[in-house]
Amino acid sequence: MADDQFDAIVVGAGPAGVTAARELANAGLSVVALERGPFPGSKNVWGGILYRAPTEAMLPGFEAAAPLERPIIEQRYVMLADDDMLALTYRSRHFSEQPYNAYSVLRSPFDRWHATTAEAAGAEVYPEVTVTDLLWDDGAVVGVTTGEPDGELYARCVVLADGANSLLAQRADLHGEWLPMDQALVAKELIALPAATIEDRFALPAGLGTALEIFGESTMGLLGYGFIYTNKESLSLGTGALLGDLIETGINVNDMLDRFKRHPAIAPLIAGGETIEYSAHLIPEGGYNRMPKLYGDGVVVVGDAAGFVNPLNREGVNLAMLSGKLAAHAIAEAIGRDNLSAASLSRYRELLEQSVVLKDLYKIRNITEFAHARPHVLGEYLRLAATIARDYLTVDGSGKGEKQKKILKRLAGLPKKRLLSDLTGALKAFGG
Ligand SMILES: Cc1cc2nc3c(=O)[nH]c(=O)nc-3n(C[C@H](O)[C@H](O)[C@H](O)COP(=O)(O)OP(=O)(O)OC[C@H]3O[C@@H](n4cnc5c(N)ncnc54)[C@H](O)[C@@H]3O)c2cc1C
Repeated sequence: MADDQFDAIVVGAGPAGVTAARELANAGLSVVALERGPFPGSKNVWGGILYRAPTEAMLPGFEAAAPLERPIIEQRYVMLADDDMLALTYRSRHFSEQPYNAYSVLRSPFDRWHATTAEAAGAEVYPEVTVTDLLWDDGAVVGVTTGEPDGELYARCVVLADGANSLLAQRADLHGEWLPMDQALVAKELIALPAATIEDRFALPAGLGTALEIFGESTMGLLGYGFIYTNKESLSLGTGALLGDLIETGINVNDMLDRFKRHPAIAPLIAGGETIEYSAHLIPEGGYNRMPKLYGDGVVVVGDAAGFVNPLNREGVNLAMLSGKLAAHAIAEAIGRDNLSAASLSRYRELLEQSVVLKDLYKIRNITEFAHARPHVLGEYLRLAATIARDYLTVDGSGKGEKQKKILKRLAGLPKKRLLSDLTGALKAFGG
């Protein structure tokens, strides 16, 4: 085996990889992070909402240093039917004052800044280097190959932080083939609008922001959701669904996005805006039940590459960062023991199990399956709720008793057995 050039090589400079690199460097280890994009963040498209408390725990004082867009003061859940919209909004004074709950963030500037925190700690971050394969010795991962001349790099441990659909996790024999039902495909646009227009349209105080999660017609009835997040002078708008469902139905995610933008409840929010960026990206949604093995001899897998996304609560970045930190701690301990075997690195899984990463993913492990088996929940039920709202709110001369009867008749039309099974299924899935 060649002499180790580094204590650790991190593949990918997204939130997980940069955190792992920084924490490894903070532990006094030599670490290099390799990123295929021209700069960290250049290949990435998250919405995105960044939660303050977990980020502060990772990067004390980040609010003063990081490029952030707007503090998010409210959350809107919106249900779209063909011509109707029903919405539930939570706006709070507690979210409108410091310490804020969350910020909107643009990925490219944020990731670029984030990478400097790893460099400041002593990690080397190299953009425009693609890892093409892993190097092995006696069944253990001992390094990586890159597309560069003399592109073999050796380390005592390799951290796979290469994001959704990780080919390297497959190469490391930590995961079989990723299935289309394990990933959502999301198309996203960045739409430029003046700050004052955004504040008028979303009823926001100057400089503050909102997050909308939008169900139903936004995904043409498929399991998934659309979103709009307000940035300083742009909107992040996107929609997507499970890749398996897109393939099965033949629905193209770009058509889904166009249709979403044309919906009568959405079009006025973006009118006059100029699309300045378009991207499509996968989000791992297989969750706890479809995670790869998280470590092997000389290798660990973190962030999206490990499937650490909680789609229900729109949490990916915080789980990616935390998993990067826990992986770094486990590796530092293993190096301290001079033992980088799978058994020694199994400490990483122990740390994850004690953290919100695996606690939360375990808790919600059956939710995608529950929702996927019941397309009528986001389809038929949602349309019914919109129709009932329309019935109730339309003043057309008919008496209130008559209206009540009409609404009860609509509700009575629901198959009782199925409703009961939906309720018990929901209790089971959400109860963990
Ligand atoms: C449209 C969209 C909206 C989202 N919104 C939110 C949100 O609002 N809030 C939230 O918390 N999460 C959100 N997420 C999820 C979030 O983006 C991810 O969970 C998070 O980015 C995972 O971080 P990561 O470092 O594991 O992977 P990534 O961010 O995907 O980073 C992986 C990095 O590895 C690099 N790479 C890949 N292969 C190689 C290779 N072979 N060699 C070298 N480099 C390589 C890539 O270029 C990339 O920079 C969203 C995701 C999408 C797609």
